[in-house]
Amino acid sequence: MKSNNIVYEKLDYDVFNKRINDSLEDERLIKLGISKNPLGYTFYGYELFELTIGSGKHDLFIVGGTHGSEIIGVDFVTQLINNIPNLEDYDPNLLTIHIIPNQNPEGYDITTQTMKDINNDNLNKESYDYYLRYRIDNLINNYLKVLDKKFNNIKDILITPQVFINIIKESFKDISWSNLIDSKRGIKELSLYQNIFSNLDSYDNYSDLFKDIKIRIDNLSSRVSNPYFKSAIKRIELSLLSNELQNIIMSKNYIYLNKNIGERLYQDKFKDNNITNTKSEELSKNVSEVFNKLNIPKGSQIKFDPNGNFVNLNKNRVDNKGIIDMLNNNIIYGITPSNNILDNTDGPIGKPTIDANNFTYSYENIVLKDLLDKSYEKGRLLGTILYHSTGGVIYSKPHDDTDRVDLLTKYNNALAEVYVESSDYKIVKEGENTGYGDYLRSTFPGVLLIELSKMGGNPIGPYGDTNNYNLTIDSNIKAVNDLIKRCNEIILNNEVIEPSNKI
Ligand SMILES: [Zn+2]
Repeated sequence: MKSNNIVYEKLDYDVFNKRINDSLEDERLIKLGISKNPLGYTFYGYELFELTIGSGKHDLFIVGGTHGSEIIGVDFVTQLINNIPNLEDYDPNLLTIHIIPNQNPEGYDITTQTMKDINNDNLNKESYDYYLRYRIDNLINNYLKVLDKKFNNIKDILITPQVFINIIKESFKDISWSNLIDSKRGIKELSLYQNIFSNLDSYDNYSDLFKDIKIRIDNLSSRVSNPYFKSAIKRIELSLLSNELQNIIMSKNYIYLNKNIGERLYQDKFKDNNITNTKSEELSKNVSEVFNKLNIPKGSQIKFDPNGNFVNLNKNRVDNKGIIDMLNNNIIYGITPSNNILDNTDGPIGKPTIDANNFTYSYENIVLKDLLDKSYEKGRLLGTILYHSTGGVIYSKPHDDTDRVDLLTKYNNALAEVYVESSDYKIVKEGENTGYGDYLRSTFPGVLLIELSKMGGNPIGPYGDTNNYNLTIDSNIKAVNDLIKRCNEIILNNEVIEPSNKI
């Protein structure tokens, strides 16, 4: 396979549209019959569309951008289009690829406008800073949970040096997040790293604490030969000892008043960026009014997942438990580090439907389901890949109540197992029916929901490490080729699951 052409750049709605237009004018894609088909408009007038490539009698669907803040999904899908001519197993006469590159342009526009001060020159630095902030928010919030259990509903906490040490120690008891720091594979020896933080004495100031940690890290670093372990140590050193983070911690003595209110570092970074400049002025205006009225934390719009009507497209399912929370006015907070934001209501997390008393599917979801319905009814549908952003996992299992669950499970697992060969993702074996992705997976054959980046921190955390970024994009392009190869076999062996094909 020709090596993939990967572009690392700062995204916004204009860059997205430019990428689409460039693809439509690309000679290689024109030869493959690329065309753009309108699917109507969102509430705020953003264009919805699909691109189709090839003219085969069978369909593979690819969807990005369900959640507004998950920009690496849109990024990946638009780069995949550009690399389709390089896929050695793609036969345009056998398979038509349908691509909805940005299912939720409203959420995407709000998120990317919030990061408007970031440009291609500082993208890496700012993304890494954001990633660190997000990680520290997670660590502190997880530690607060531990404290909360020990001391029953703590109200206030002052992040003193000793508390900071405890947070680090606590966080390295569970090294799963540290594995994510490595840009290639998890590193077993990271457990050694915990020793650095044992026997740290009490400190009354941060400078002495940071100095001591640095000495310990340098000592360990000089004794290690495994290059992956070495690079992980380097990254942890940077994450704990970056000047900027030290300055923030030292200057603020970070006070988290309560686990559900108070500041978050990831929000703090964008607290002065008002919601402005979206393509629809109405969208900016209405969303900022709601933010002001409901006192939603400033800067939290950097992670804006729903559409402009605050409907979270993946929660947009009649069985979603958030509907009951809406009906009962339950006070529910998001998960850490967004646990200072109310969930299942207007805000950057979003709700399952506009009005809980009158459930409706969102237009963005209806157009997708219509396409899948038509393809399935004609016996053309091979599969659908829904690209989300962070976690490095694949959801493939349909819900147990699903018609023909065993047949679909077997079919989906075979696709997922092909996909993980290049991507090295974990396959999630449990099936739900509460999210829209789950609903599609329980309705159509071959629906995979993929969490792309192993680095956390939407929207820009995954851009904090260019090696990790390149590996994510590159390995997923390869994985799509592998999946297409499997699709070819499904077609040739007549293994296509059709609606009439009941068992
Ligand atoms: Zn998502």
